[in-house]
Amino acid sequence: MKSIYDLTFTDLENFFLTNSEKKYRARQVFDWLYKKNIESFELMSNLNDSSLTLLTNNFYFPRLKKVKQLASFDGTVKYLYQLADGNLIESVIMRHNYGNSICITTQVGCNMGCKFCASGVIKKVRNLTAGEMLSQIIESQKYFKDRISHVIVMGIGEPFDNYDNLISFLTNVNDYRALEIGARHITVSTCGIVPKIKEFADEKLQINLAISLHAPTDEIRNKIMPINKKYPISELIEAIKYYLSKTNRRVTIEYLMLKDLNDQKQHAQKLAELLKGLNVYVNLIPYNEVYEAPYKRSDETLMNEFFQVLKQNKINATLRKEQGHDIDAACGQLRSQVIKKGATF
Ligand code: SAH
Repeated sequence: MKSIYDLTFTDLENFFLTNSEKKYRARQVFDWLYKKNIESFELMSNLNDSSLTLLTNNFYFPRLKKVKQLASFDGTVKYLYQLADGNLIESVIMRHNYGNSICITTQVGCNMGCKFCASGVIKKVRNLTAGEMLSQIIESQKYFKDRISHVIVMGIGEPFDNYDNLISFLTNVNDYRALEIGARHITVSTCGIVPKIKEFADEKLQINLAISLHAPTDEIRNKIMPINKKYPISELIEAIKYYLSKTNRRVTIEYLMLKDLNDQKQHAQKLAELLKGLNVYVNLIPYNEVYEAPYKRSDETLMNEFFQVLKQNKINATLRKEQGHDIDAACGQLRSQVIKKGATF
C-alpha cells in the first residue's frame, strides 16, 4: 500500500482512469487533501462509493508520530517524528521576516559521508517516500499553527540520492491543486551529484538550487567530501553552468567556514576565480561544531576577511545567520536522536 500523499495529481488521475473511474475524482480528492486538510477517506463526502472503496483498498494516510518538539529562543522549532517503521526523522521550521520556512529530511541516514556533518554518521537506512516528505510539511504546519511559505530541502539526507521521490514531492509542494508553494520559494541543496544536477536542470522547474561546495580546490574538497572523488570540482562547475543555462535561476553556493582548512584569504581568492562570471551567490556558513567531527568554526575576523575578498572580486556573498543553534537544529546538527550522547528522548 502507498501513502495517498505519494501520488501526484497526474498519478491519481491515472489511477482513477485505469480503474474505470472518472478522472475528475482526482480533483475532488486533492481538494479534500490539500485545501480542506481532511485526513480520512470516509469524510470525502462528494465521492461515489466505488471511488471510496478503491481509495481505501489502495492507499493509507501516513501518520508521523511526533516524538518530541523543541523550541529555540529565536522562534525555530524542531520536530522529531517517528515513521511507521520506527525510524526517526527531523524537520525544522524557521521564522524569517519574509515568512516561515521548513527544512525537510529526505532519507533515514545518509551515504555521502561528509566529514564535518553529524547527519551522515548513520549510513543510509532507506529513502523517504514522497508522502513521508510531504507529511513533514502537513504535520508540522498543524503544530506550528502558521502558514509555511518556504521549503528547503536541506535536512538529513542527500535529495539527489532519492531523485524520483524528490521530484514527486516537489511536484506536490508546488502544484496549485496541492500545497501551492511557489517554485521560487523552494530550495534543494545537494553535495554535488553531477548527473542529477543536469537531470534536475532538464525538469525546467523554477526551483532554487544550492550546491554544497565548501572548498575551492579538489585537494581540500577531497579531504572533507568523498563525493568529490567521483565528481571533481571541474565537473561540478560544468553542471552548474548547465543548470544556469537551462533555468536562468541564480545558483546558491554554500561554503562552510572550517578553521585552518578553507578559511584563509588565498582560499577566498581561489573561490572567486572559480566562480568568476557565473550567476551565483555565495552563502558563507559559520560551522556548527558537532561532537562527531574534529573541525572547528573559523574566527569571525577571518570570515569577514574572506567575505571582503569575495566582494572585492565582485562575487555576491552573504555570511549566513544561523538559527536554532541552542536546540541542535542548526545545519549539520540534525541527527537521529537515538545515537546522540545524552539524548533525553
Ligand atoms: N545533502 C545535502 C543537504 C543536507 S546538508 C547537501 O549536502 O547539500 C545542508 C547543508 O548543511 C549543507 O551545505 C551541508 O554541507 C551543511 N552542513 C553540514 N554539516 C554542517 C555543520 N556542522 N555546520 C554547518 N553546516 C553544515
